[in-house]
Amino acid sequence: MSDGIVVIRKGREKPVVQQHPWIFSGAIDSVRGDPTPGDIVTVTDHKGAFLARGYWNPKSQIQVRILTWQDEPINEDWWRRMLKRAIDARYPGERQHKEFAYPNAQRLINAENDFIPGLIVDRYDNWLVLQALTLHIDQQKLSIAQLLAEIVEPKGIYERSDVDVRNKEGLKQTSGLLWGEEPPQKITFVENGRSMLVDVRHGHKTGFYLDQRDNRDFLLHEMAINSGVYRNPPKTELPRMLNLFSYTGGFGIQLVFQAQITNVDASLEVLEMAEENFKLNSAIPNQVDFIQADVFDYLHDQVAEGAQYDVIVCDPPKFAHNAGQVERAARGYKDLNLNCFKLVKPGGYLMTFSCSGAIDADLFQKIVFGALVDSGRQAQIVKHLTQAEDHPVALTFPEGAYLKGLLLRVY
Ligand code: SAH
Repeated sequence: MSDGIVVIRKGREKPVVQQHPWIFSGAIDSVRGDPTPGDIVTVTDHKGAFLARGYWNPKSQIQVRILTWQDEPINEDWWRRMLKRAIDARYPGERQHKEFAYPNAQRLINAENDFIPGLIVDRYDNWLVLQALTLHIDQQKLSIAQLLAEIVEPKGIYERSDVDVRNKEGLKQTSGLLWGEEPPQKITFVENGRSMLVDVRHGHKTGFYLDQRDNRDFLLHEMAINSGVYRNPPKTELPRMLNLFSYTGGFGIQLVFQAQITNVDASLEVLEMAEENFKLNSAIPNQVDFIQADVFDYLHDQVAEGAQYDVIVCDPPKFAHNAGQVERAARGYKDLNLNCFKLVKPGGYLMTFSCSGAIDADLFQKIVFGALVDSGRQAQIVKHLTQAEDHPVALTFPEGAYLKGLLLRVY
């Protein structure tokens, strides 16, 4: 432990006391004891009373990220305890993680939301993928990998720290093997009973959008009840699904036997992977389409052609990266949702999302409401949607709730 002390300005202690994990430079009165960037520092109030302990990086606007609010050392024991606590919470019951019970892909460490700022760890079958988002975590990553190896006993741990946010910490992007065996080019895992391939070296984020697992499951559940495929007598025609921003097919694969599915994405590479994923799940080839297109243009054309779908999933990438981009992003979301409303059959479903942290659930609902009004349709909220259970949100860290969505029945 270094002797660095970060003194909080008088009157600026409240967020620290209330366990928000970030301390911005503006709240800092002084830094004493000459710490080195990345070091553990003790945080005190202006009178010198202990408030918290965390790690320090003067290059970042978030100068301190807090690891504990107790006067305890941040050592190997702390790390083992915190990693184990987060991992055990994903596996209720006795040491199930050793047996890799299904589902066998999930987030194990969700950074600030698991009280370990800057660290993300996802598991895909026997492999872990780690993202080190901050300087201290980058410095510690080999010992973190060692502890993860002890706790989870994976075959290998691969690093995917090729993310822009590292620039803000003065770090370069990097990726590669951290521990154990090299993962295969594609790892197969099971999600909600479907097999999926993931390329942990090149895929988005750590390879797959694990945060949508529960929403994909809910879509299947809702469709199984309402699509008519299980009705007696069954509907003869399969319902039509439009999977917008499909990536490697996640939402579509949930409905592989329940619907005629059109996957749309701008990237040919991810569509090729989606095709492989559909094959892996024995999809009937003429029941699935893969269309490389800009979704905005595609929707425009579909509306012009008078196309109609029983279910549409709209899961775009992040449109607003900060508060300044909210207005433009809102226009984007409204445009997408307006066209989606126009394309849903009466009695059909729209599952619509935003993963922009800068747009909260209320604002998103207002934007979708605006689109509905313009479309002249009627809609009900069947369910408010959020990120999967293995992406919990620390109550002290509202920034952790980035994914919001609505499942709407449209008339
Ligand atoms: N729904 C997916 C995740 C979507 S990620 C899942 O469940 O796994 C967002 C996807 O949108 C990426 O695959 C990206 O290639 C694609 N994309 C981004 N902008 C696009 C655009 N304008 N038109 C079509 N696809 C786009």
